[in-house]
Amino acid sequence: MKIAFIGLGNMGGGMAANLVKAGHAVNAFDLSEEALASANAHGCTTFTDAREAVQGVDAVVTMLPNGGIVKSVYTESVIGHAPAGAVLLDCSTIDVATAKDVIATAEAAGYDMVDAPVSGGIAAANGGTLTFMVGGTEQAFKRAEEVLNPMGKAVIHAGDAGAGQTAKICNNMLLAISMIGTAEAMAMAEKLGLDPQKFYEISSQSSGYCWSLNAYTPMPGVGVESPADNDYQGGFATALMLKDLRLAMDAADTADAAVPMGARAAALYEDFNGAGNGALDFSAIIKMLRG
Ligand code: NAD
Repeated sequence: MKIAFIGLGNMGGGMAANLVKAGHAVNAFDLSEEALASANAHGCTTFTDAREAVQGVDAVVTMLPNGGIVKSVYTESVIGHAPAGAVLLDCSTIDVATAKDVIATAEAAGYDMVDAPVSGGIAAANGGTLTFMVGGTEQAFKRAEEVLNPMGKAVIHAGDAGAGQTAKICNNMLLAISMIGTAEAMAMAEKLGLDPQKFYEISSQSSGYCWSLNAYTPMPGVGVESPADNDYQGGFATALMLKDLRLAMDAADTADAAVPMGARAAALYEDFNGAGNGALDFSAIIKMLRG
């Protein structure tokens, strides 16, 4: 296939490289010259105009920072410029309303389009082991799956347009709550004089079992190896978790959903991020709780 890839940053760079490895011809467009140089080194053909990059392609994949940018890229450079038969895939994490809106515009112009946000960070993007949660029609999903397979370990059809973004923000809201809960319990056990490693051994095999404790232990030197053991470098940045929590809070407002724990988690991550910790892994929130 010939695929246009727009947005080759931390995530998109590795994803596009995996499409090349799978034998696809990839046209790359990004505003950053550095991103384009790296894409070129990974075998992509680079373009300085998005409209030229989408000429004659079978599929367009985007991996961009936010909904406003996604909307402008699709309305100004993709819809009406990519061939009518091309399938469009937005893998960025954006708000549900914009995702639905852009897909409706694309469909009205005759395209198949999906929202396909990812779970997994930069290592999973580079390694081709992302999980894609996909929203769109059955036909659009089937076509998108073929494009997504070389970049992921799982491609799941979540439902109609916007369902991928819904799954993503609900999952990450749950993750934020469970990480804060895990951090709180570990910090409290420590203050009460219990050896944190003993707490890990007991709780990870008891009803406290959860991904944040068992697979991503937030305290250095305790439990499994995680970003905590690397001074909270790498992993999933606090600023990105906060971005997802803000999207979740907006969506909860729209749906009139009760999210008392999600709202508290969002407020705590606002505080932690505001104190200059945006670049640290999100599990570093335990530092705030340990005092
Ligand atoms: P990034 O900032 O590294 O990359 C975004 C790229 O988009 C940059 O190279 C930028 O130059 C480019 N860009 C911006 N505006 C553009 C435009 N108008 N036209 C073309 N290119 C443009 O961000 P990232 O970490 O790669 O994240 C991308 C998306 O993936 C975000 O929506 C993010 O929430 C989501 N995500 C990131 C992670 C992660 O761990 N980094 C994990 C899951 C999901």
